[in-house]
Amino acid sequence: MSDHISKEVTPEVGEGPYYKTGSPQRNNVIGKGTNGEKLTVTGHVLDTLGNPVNGAWLDFWQADGNGEYDNIGYNLRGHQFTDITGTYRLETVIPAMYGTRTPHIHVKLRATSLTLIITSQLFFPDQARNKTDPIFNPKLVMAVTGSPGNTQASFDFVLNI
Ligand code: FE
Repeated sequence: MSDHISKEVTPEVGEGPYYKTGSPQRNNVIGKGTNGEKLTVTGHVLDTLGNPVNGAWLDFWQADGNGEYDNIGYNLRGHQFTDITGTYRLETVIPAMYGTRTPHIHVKLRATSLTLIITSQLFFPDQARNKTDPIFNPKLVMAVTGSPGNTQASFDFVLNI
């Protein structure tokens, strides 16, 4: 996978007010009665040479289809580790906007327990609020395909390790 061209490290953006430690380890963060259209997010965690990072930790949290976070339990919150190909997979729902925020998925990740945690967010293409949300970063926009109810998004993270 290495192409000898240094890849740009994934930019960090703010954590926001809704992170909770202690999320369950799981790929599917959809709870019973979770509001929102199904979304699958997949991708890799890579180093700056493009090599996959095995066992990278990713902790996702997000709003539901009404723009609401679960601040009591762990609905739409979960952590996971990449496999030997550096792949992660998140089964979730499409988050709605809230307040001034364009739709986004929060994530913290790190390559190993000895490396720094990166805090970032993933965004969706073609959202009107991408133009006005001051936190939005075009380098953090996922590639989105599929149809309503079966939406697929992809994004590769690059860590400086
Ligand atoms: Fe948020």
